Amino acid sequence: MTRQHADYLVIGGGIAGMSAAAEIAAASSVILLERESQPGYHSTGRSAAMFVATYGPPPVRALSAAARPFLDAPPDRFADHPLLTPRAVLAIGREDQAATLAQMVADAAAEGTVVEALTPEAALRRVPALRPGYVAGAVLEPDASDIDVHALHHGYQRMLRGRDGQLFTDAEVERIEWTGGHWQVFTRRGRFEAGVLIDAAGAWADGVARLAGVEPVGLTPKRRTAITFDPPEDMPTAGWPLVLDCDEQFYFKPEGGRILASPADATPVEPCDVQPEELDVAVTVDRVQTATTLPVARITHRWAGLRTFPPDGVPVAGWDDGRDAFFWLAGQGGYGIQTAPALARLAAALARQKPLPAEIVDRGVEAADLSPRRLRKGTR
Ligand SMILES: Cc1cc2nc3c(=O)[nH]c(=O)nc-3n(C[C@H](O)[C@H](O)[C@H](O)COP(=O)(O)OP(=O)(O)OC[C@H]3O[C@@H](n4cnc5c(N)ncnc54)[C@H](O)[C@@H]3O)c2cc1C
Repeated sequence: MTRQHADYLVIGGGIAGMSAAAEIAAASSVILLERESQPGYHSTGRSAAMFVATYGPPPVRALSAAARPFLDAPPDRFADHPLLTPRAVLAIGREDQAATLAQMVADAAAEGTVVEALTPEAALRRVPALRPGYVAGAVLEPDASDIDVHALHHGYQRMLRGRDGQLFTDAEVERIEWTGGHWQVFTRRGRFEAGVLIDAAGAWADGVARLAGVEPVGLTPKRRTAITFDPPEDMPTAGWPLVLDCDEQFYFKPEGGRILASPADATPVEPCDVQPEELDVAVTVDRVQTATTLPVARITHRWAGLRTFPPDGVPVAGWDDGRDAFFWLAGQGGYGIQTAPALARLAAALARQKPLPAEIVDRGVEAADLSPRRLRKGTR
């Protein structure tokens, strides 16, 4: 059995753990432990891969804005091709959803995000498959993008290794002890020791905290389903935006010659290797066929993933206030990919007791906004 020591032990090799480990490794020794043989097997590998600046509560939007410069221009040799490819988002609404669309325009104006209100005719010109009469209004966010999630995740893995960080796969953390001012972490791959533990275990982060004797923050994993299907052969779809129901009841977008669609479900479940339910797949097909003329003749792929939320919907990044040397990096909900570069730098700064990076402070994000302490008010 190996016995290894580092300054920092990161648990979880999804986008959160990989990016934070890579950033921390710039100045400290880091070991990353991942249960699966493939880092990214869970939520990170199952996302819709979008960057949407207007998505999520205000601190998430600020983190997304802070992450954008990295995604637009990552460091040299981080990736072989661009991480972002332009893909607008078209939020659509029926007549009874007009107030939601108006609110979207007002919110975007307040934050300086460029959006454009479109007539139903203009929306149909962009996506001719929209069913005439269904769409009463639309809002276009032109600066959204597809994210190459694999390239982003892999880029951070390369950065971690390049900085002498160590990644252990097939290394499920089964037991954690705090002895002699150090964490001791036990896995099938051996025993690991570190002064600081970073919990980036996604849907399992509360469970990892319990193993360490740390009070959970109350994370809820929520299942989200996706399918792909072939569009009609004579319908050019590649240039379509992602089409999103403005109350987030469904969305669809082109993906590798097919259409990816989701009912935007958010069903609370226990942490697990989540699989799609037949009913959610049927709801997806029904909502897409109600809003569009797209026939869903054959589903080519179906999957589900977990989006994990704290009670207030804002990610948790910061030191636990009840336990020494335990750092949370969890609860990224449906925004964990697009916020990762900013959250990783924020986590690395806080974990190394450094000031927050300017690009994050400039967006108005404060450590207290993300601290686990905010979720424990009144409980201590
Ligand atoms: C259908 C869907 C669509 C989405 N679309 C988008 C999108 O368009 N844009 C966006 O930004 N986000 C999107 N998301 C959200 C995004 O995927 C997540 O926020 C993000 O992947 C979370 O990353 P993570 O590293 O926290 O979790 P994960 O990727 O789940 O990583 C956690 C890791 O911890 C490991 N682990 C757990 N317990 C242990 C243990 N005891 N020992 C060792 N390892 C352990 C797990 O094996 C796992 O690999 C979407 C999610 C879904 C499901």
